[in-house]
Amino acid sequence: MTAQAKTDLLSLFPEEARAKLTEMGEPTYREQQIFSWLMKGKTYAEMKNLPLSLREKLTETCEWRIPTVQAKQVSQTDNTAKYLFRLADGACVESVLMQYEYGYSLCISSQVGCRMGCRFCASTLGGKERDLLPSEMLGQIIAAQAEAGVKVSHVVMMGIGEPLDNYEHVIRFLRLAAHPARLGLSPRRISLSTCGIVPRILDLAEEELPVTLSVSLHAASDEARSAIMPVNRTYPIGELLAACRRFFERTGRRISFEYTLLSGVNDSEQDAAALASTLRVGLGNMPVHVNLIRLNQVRERQYVGASTAAAARFIAVLGKSGITATLRRRLGADIDAACGQLRRRVASAAEDAAPADPSC
Ligand code: SAH
Repeated sequence: MTAQAKTDLLSLFPEEARAKLTEMGEPTYREQQIFSWLMKGKTYAEMKNLPLSLREKLTETCEWRIPTVQAKQVSQTDNTAKYLFRLADGACVESVLMQYEYGYSLCISSQVGCRMGCRFCASTLGGKERDLLPSEMLGQIIAAQAEAGVKVSHVVMMGIGEPLDNYEHVIRFLRLAAHPARLGLSPRRISLSTCGIVPRILDLAEEELPVTLSVSLHAASDEARSAIMPVNRTYPIGELLAACRRFFERTGRRISFEYTLLSGVNDSEQDAAALASTLRVGLGNMPVHVNLIRLNQVRERQYVGASTAAAARFIAVLGKSGITATLRRRLGADIDAACGQLRRRVASAAEDAAPADPSC
């Protein structure tokens, strides 16, 4: 006989959680009590206003999906904190907490590893291990808030993984995050970054979830983009930009395009002119913003970041074509801030110290 599967309580909407509690023979007002503790990252055993018997029953029958801090690095220059979070099965993901004038922004992961294969990215080096559950995405926010003693006001889905390759769980996460009985975080304050899975962008356009969409473009032609982003062979730039236009028409949300400047690969003035023309042809009059990203050098990759002068020339050429671009402020430059770097560093250290633990 197999043991009954435990309930992933934190992935449930309030009405689903109340139904579960009713099934357990509990009054529905317990839902509010339990979730006000969960939002603070407290374990079932710590829920002091619940009877001991219920705390024990919850521990026995419900999963615990809020991650624990496995490692933390804090930047000396700007206070950016990078967390390596350990999940219930021992797998690890990263989150980065950044302080801005407007509040705290948390960059979260959506998968353990990634299968998209972008050539400059550390997250994809070991492939994808699994998708994260909605509770594990919420859990990163809850755990970071509890550890740092702050309230996160913005979330960016730019950590490990491709959010649109974990579509159902990500949509549930976004709805849960927005729910007033959970985090009450408006979708407008959440940026979802994608490498460009066209059918899922079209699905997202119909969800009535006005998230901020960021699209990782990184090149102006199909030839150049396919060379650094394998996803482009399935969903070329023309189809991608048509999907972006559709998303804008349905949501009214401006889309930003991410472009990591790689020296000698995509950072010349000709590349900038080609980017402006590709965007105009593909997007017409849609408002466009380009986010230029400095490369975070990844040990296993051969790419080199563009110089500051090359970045300035690139911005100037885009500006002449009427496209605004900003060079993203580089937070946490002294820590392992690039996606997947901390996880890999701890992985290789863990391999040296304890070969029995393959995931962290
Ligand atoms: N899978 C999502 C989220 C990835 S991380 C996506 O592809 O958009 C967020 C951004 O960082 C993406 O634009 C990604 O291409 C970029 N990125 C990945 N590795 C990088 C590196 N080493 N240096 C700079 N940017 C990087």
